[in-house]
Amino acid sequence: MTTTAGCHDPSPYAEATIAVGTLHGKESAFAPAFGRWLDAAVRATTALDTDALGTFTGDVPRALSPMDAAEAKAAGAAAELGTPFGVATEASYAPSLGGFGPVVHEELVVFVDLERGIRVPHGVRAYARVAAPRDVEDEAAARAYLDRVGFPGQAVVARLGNELRKGLQDERVVLGLVARGPVRLEPDLRAHLNPQRRRTLRGVAWGMAARLRTPCPACACPGFGPVDVVRGVPCGGCGTPTSRVRADVDGCAACPARQERPRPVTVADPATCDVCNP
Ligand SMILES: [Zn+2]
Ligand SMILES: [Zn+2]
Repeated sequence: MTTTAGCHDPSPYAEATIAVGTLHGKESAFAPAFGRWLDAAVRATTALDTDALGTFTGDVPRALSPMDAAEAKAAGAAAELGTPFGVATEASYAPSLGGFGPVVHEELVVFVDLERGIRVPHGVRAYARVAAPRDVEDEAAARAYLDRVGFPGQAVVARLGNELRKGLQDERVVLGLVARGPVRLEPDLRAHLNPQRRRTLRGVAWGMAARLRTPCPACACPGFGPVDVVRGVPCGGCGTPTSRVRADVDGCAACPARQERPRPVTVADPATCDVCNP
C-alpha cells in the first residue's frame, strides 16, 4: 500500500458528488468506499450510453483502449450530472497462460477531476473463473451449463443463429431458445449480472478511494499512487537482472513527481533467469 494521508486531513472530495458512469448498477460498488474514505456521495448516470463504447458480447466493437474508454465514460458521467467529478470502469478478460483454468480479469477504474484537470487510473488484476462458451443442443446440456456457471445469480448470453439475447436469468427462456435449435451459451460479464465481478469492483473502489486521499508529496494533488513497476531483480545464480519486479513506482496525475518503493526481494530464483536457463 501507498502511504495515505492522515485521517485528520480533510478529504479533497468532502461533500462532493461523484458521477458514476454506468448502466449496470456499479454505483453500489463505489458508495461505501467513497463515502467512508472521501466523505463523498456517488450518483449513477441514467442517460449515458456506456455500451456505445463497446460490449463484451462484441455486438458493439471496442474502438478505444480500456483507459480511454473508461476516461470517456467518467467524463461523460460528470457532464451528465453537472459535477466536475466522474468515475467509470472498464474490464477486460484474457485467457491465463496455456488457456486452461482461470482467466485474468483486469478491472481498470478511471477517476476524472475536471477542476484540477487530472485523470487518475487505478487497476487491479484478479484471476477469475469464467466458463467458456458452449454450444448446447438439448435441455440436459443447457441445464448442466447453467449449473456450472452459477445461474441465475450469474446471468447468461445466448446466441441462436443471428439472434443475440443478453442478461438471461430465467431458465424457461433459455430452454425455450434451446427448443428452437442449437444455442451458444456464455456468461454475461456485465457487473450487475456477475457476482464475482461485483466483488472485484468493490475492492478496486476501496483502492481508488484510498489513492484519492493520498496527496502528491511534491504538489499535493490528490491521487498519488502506483503508475509503473521497475523490473530487474538480480539472479541468485549469476547476478543478471531478471524480469522480476524489484520496485513499484508511485506517481502524480498532475506533475512529474515519481517515487520508487522497493519490494522486499533482493535475489531472483535462478529458475526464472534466461542466462541460467538458456
Ligand atoms: Zn542467472
Ligand atoms: Zn504532483
